[in-house]
Amino acid sequence: MLQLLPMAKTLLWGLFNLIFPAECSLCSNPLEMIKERYICSNCLEKIVPIELPVCDKCGKPLVSSFSRLQHPLCRECRTMRRYFTFARAVGTYEGVLKKAIWLFKYEGKTGLQNILGHLMVDSIIHLEWINKIDIIVPIPLCKARLRKRGYNQSALLAGFIGKKLSIPVSRNNLKRIKATITQASLKRNQRIRNVYNAFCIQQPKEFSGKRVLLIDDVFTTGATSNECSRILKKSGASDIFVLTIARGV
Ligand SMILES: [Zn+2]
Ligand SMILES: [Zn+2]
Repeated sequence: MLQLLPMAKTLLWGLFNLIFPAECSLCSNPLEMIKERYICSNCLEKIVPIELPVCDKCGKPLVSSFSRLQHPLCRECRTMRRYFTFARAVGTYEGVLKKAIWLFKYEGKTGLQNILGHLMVDSIIHLEWINKIDIIVPIPLCKARLRKRGYNQSALLAGFIGKKLSIPVSRNNLKRIKATITQASLKRNQRIRNVYNAFCIQQPKEFSGKRVLLIDDVFTTGATSNECSRILKKSGASDIFVLTIARGV
């Protein structure tokens, strides 16, 4: 009976599309019935994946394999303390992915959580450490921003990924206690200062000895992920892995 449910859902979706043909959220071309949802395959193919070699720590693309041999870490990771074990992303923050994140984050297109969540799961499913994750934590928004937006995009993604991988999600323990300026408008050092002490953990016990998968939408300098990792480590978390949809290069 349970195996029939996804099939019934697909058929219902197909029927719904027959009556109300759906469009690609990005290019407005009609979606192919049943096969495509939210974003057409043409747009999906345009996503620019992160190419190897990357920095062992933050996942930043490195110039060449030779430069990786010289330094397995990028300049930022060599000069600043990173509290996470490593960070990875689906693709670079440009083009299709950038537009999809914008619609998902600022235009209320929450249905995109499915396709973006899928891309995130696909990007890490082959990695051995995925079996070691104990708990998933989304980067929280401050109360005012959450009220204004109505949802936390990272929490939606964390919920989707948690369900797919059957890993529990901690939704309200890590809190943002300081309303910060949007990181996008700031330089690297300002970003670090902006998020310093902006988060707190209410029940540290939940993370004690745990391996945490931290979820966010975009990794730029990593200041927010690093600050959350610092607080999680302080609460006793053993390892932090960061996963985002996109990465600035
Ligand atoms: Zn499209
Ligand atoms: Zn790095």
